[in-house]
Amino acid sequence: MTHNTETMFTHIQKAIQKAGEELGYSEKTITNITHPYNIVEKSVQVDGIDNSVDVYRVQFNNALGPYKGGIRFHPDVDLDEVKTLAITMMLKCSLVDIPLGGAKGGATINPKELNDKQIEAVARAWARTMHEVIGVDQDIPAPDVNTNGQIMSYMLDEYESTVGHSEPGVITGKPLELGGSKGRDKATSQGGVYVLEKVLEYFPEKVGTKKVVIQGFGNVGSFAATLLANKDFTIVGISDSKGAIYSEKGLDVEMIAEKKRSERVSLHELFTSNDAIKKISNEELLIQPCDILIPAALENQITESNADAIHASVILELANNPTSVAADIILKEKDVVVIPDFLANAGGVTVSYFEWVQNRQQYYWKLKDVDDKLFDIMVAATEKTYKMSQKEGLTLREAGFRVAVDRVAKAVALRGIK
Ligand code: GLU
Repeated sequence: MTHNTETMFTHIQKAIQKAGEELGYSEKTITNITHPYNIVEKSVQVDGIDNSVDVYRVQFNNALGPYKGGIRFHPDVDLDEVKTLAITMMLKCSLVDIPLGGAKGGATINPKELNDKQIEAVARAWARTMHEVIGVDQDIPAPDVNTNGQIMSYMLDEYESTVGHSEPGVITGKPLELGGSKGRDKATSQGGVYVLEKVLEYFPEKVGTKKVVIQGFGNVGSFAATLLANKDFTIVGISDSKGAIYSEKGLDVEMIAEKKRSERVSLHELFTSNDAIKKISNEELLIQPCDILIPAALENQITESNADAIHASVILELANNPTSVAADIILKEKDVVVIPDFLANAGGVTVSYFEWVQNRQQYYWKLKDVDDKLFDIMVAATEKTYKMSQKEGLTLREAGFRVAVDRVAKAVALRGIK
């Protein structure tokens, strides 16, 4: 992974550099937003685990507000990956116009090989190790791949017992009982749906028959599938880490999500192959016929080896960095509308921001208020990005960089770094 994520990090730095220069910012300002402010990288002992565990927090930039970003538990987590995800968080918060900076964290473990007690111990060790650098006005973590409300609860508990006071706003993505926000569980997907519908209004010729393929059926992928299926989209393909299924007529994703939750089985185990449903590999899924492709799993899935074969005319990047640099160039040539991750999946951090606001006010909102406010923010960010792309003849990704860089660079310059 190191090589790819290194390439992606350098690529994002260069894209920010380019946008910053075109916007007329000084080298000093640009350097400030292309390099992390603070890196914590430690190897810690964890109860019940023999080898020490590497834990990370990269605090990329806090010119717009406290650092913000999730924590990933995955065997591929390393410093380059965390840096790449942290710089993306800076862009995301800037683009959707919320008063937060960018950060990311992780622990290099394979949660599939650990039991619940060991995972709890990793969560507590992470929070203890980072307690001095996180805080409600300092840095606010949240879930990411393989972390969830239960893990945020352990971290909150460990943090509060270490610092000796209650501080629910130190972490977001909590269960409702511990101060979570209504709508946070589906926020990334809901935000993505709002963005997708707005983009389809701008590109009516790309709408097609609204057949959707979704890679990944975790929290983000399964919510996206059910939200879209409840509108006028047909979900024709989905996948989990073990394999994919495809049906031209459409899949009953609500039933599948329910079965997966209750029976904890893979998609391939759920179905016997028949004429209506094809069992295929994850790689094959990406190149099946569809109008809209939604990568909602890990990075580097759409690459130069499959970009040419992709049928979709619109790609909604609900995962972080799912498209390689080379693939992005091929998709641009094919005139595919790619909705970049830092716009497409920013609904997650946006509702994290709402959760943080509610924690600070000790006053909790109705789901409708959360959804309405999320809608306003996602649509405004989409509009700004689209208008910039039209004005300057840019792809949505290039335009997103311009809009995001402009806001954070301005904040940095106002602070005297110019
Ligand atoms: N991990 C999510 C992301 O990549 C959410 C971050 C947050 O809520 O702080 O955007």
